[in-house]
This record gives sequence, C-alpha cells and structure tokens, in this order.
Amino acid sequence: MSRPISSATASGLFADGPPAPAEVRHLAAFMDGAIMVPEVRWELRRHWGLCDRHSWLYTVLEVEARGGAGPFSTAILLEDLLQQAVAVLRRRALLPWALAQRPLRRRGRCFTCDYQGLVGERGSGAGAATASLAPADRAAGTCRLVAAAAPQWRRRACPRCLPGPPGPEAVPCRVHLLQDAAPPDRAAVTAALGDLALRLHRYVRSLTWRGPVVGPPELAAWVEALGWTGGWARVRSATADTGPQDGLGPVGPPARSVTPGGGGALDG
Ligand SMILES: [Zn+2]
Ligand SMILES: [Zn+2]
Repeated sequence: MSRPISSATASGLFADGPPAPAEVRHLAAFMDGAIMVPEVRWELRRHWGLCDRHSWLYTVLEVEARGGAGPFSTAILLEDLLQQAVAVLRRRALLPWALAQRPLRRRGRCFTCDYQGLVGERGSGAGAATASLAPADRAAGTCRLVAAAAPQWRRRACPRCLPGPPGPEAVPCRVHLLQDAAPPDRAAVTAALGDLALRLHRYVRSLTWRGPVVGPPELAAWVEALGWTGGWARVRSATADTGPQDGLGPVGPPARSVTPGGGGALDG
C-alpha cells in the first residue's frame, strides 16, 4: 500500500520552477488533439518527445484531467517513441556503437519550450512566468501512481540515474546510453525496450473499450518509458516519500538543464 503523497514530494517533481500558465496552456492544446497531428508527431519523434520537464507536466495535467487515472495520450506517444527506439537499435545492430547510438540524440525542439520563448519575447508572458498553478495539488495524483508502480519500475530503472544497487532487469536510459562510450549489451537493451513497448501497447489497449485487464508490469510501463526517454531524476522526486521503502534513499530536486528552457536534469 502506498503512503500518502506530501506536498513536498509533489512539488519536488517541479523543483526547477512551478508550472506557469503559459506552459499549462500550451500543453492543454496538446491534450486537445495536437499531439496526434502528423507534423507534430514527426517533431516529437525527432526530439524524443517533449523535454523532460514538459513531458512530466503533460503527464500531470493528463492524470489530473482523468481524475487521477493513468495517462492515455502520454502512453500512446511513449509507445510510439519506444517502438522507434527498438527499430533504431535493430536497424543499426551491426554498426559501431558510436554510430548506432546517434539517432537516440534529441534533434529539433521542445514545442512547449519554444512557445514559452515566443511568449516571453512578446512580453505578454511576464506575469505568466512567475505565477504558480499550485503544482503540489496538481502533481499529487501522478506521484501516487508513480509510487504505487515502484515495485515494478525499480527493477528496470537506469542504474546510472538511481542510487543503490541496480535492479535485476536494469536498463540504461536513453541519456546514459548516449553518454557511455562503451557499448552496452545491445541485444539485451533492445529486448528490454521491445518488452517495454509491448507493455505500453497492452496498457493503452486496456484503456479502450473492451480492452484487456492488465497487471502491475503494464501499469508501470508509462513511468518506465518516461524514465527511459528523459532520465529518472523526476521519478526519484515523485517518490521522495517512498524512498526508504524502495531503497532509493534521499533524493534531491531535478537539476536545471543547461539548455535554455529545458527543465530536465539530463538531456541528450
Ligand atoms: Zn520543454
Ligand atoms: Zn540514466
């Protein structure tokens, strides 16, 4: 049974700054269907989704809109990205790792970071940039889901992102795959990501009419996919209260990205 989620934990998910109205407004447009537009989807594939901050904020808003239920369109996008990752690794299985990993880098932009930049340039977002939308209240539902899924995802979390001994099925995240000069066990990584894509697919289907009933491995899949694409710093923050029971230890807030507008601790 998961513990209650404190405001401090929920705020920790956005310790790099409370969500501003401009960010929320833009992400709400995605929820209204923009995420399904082919051009948008193409850009999201190039960039491996939104930046880490906006991927999580989108998830938080979606979970809130669904009354605390697991995210749906977030999971559809993540399934798409995981399938892309598997295809890239399979297609480049025989290339040297330095070449094979190149498509895992982010290219292009995060739409929401872009929008924030435009709003700021016009000067109309000055107030928005400082206003808080009570992130603790908004993120509590998401943090609860992440904590409930911890027994699953901690088995497979990136060992470089989380402290402590690696789980039995640990998979390096995309960011650390790019940072590591030594090639990973590519067959094992590809198989693990293929399994994650399949669990995401089952999870998405479970949310549709007459979809299958799924278990804990599927319910944890969207958390693992967010961790894989953007690193696990925010997963750690989202479960700060459950740290000792999960063996994750005390955690700090996600560090600011060095790229303008990028809110993730890591990027690549
Ligand atoms: Zn962004
Ligand atoms: Zn990592």
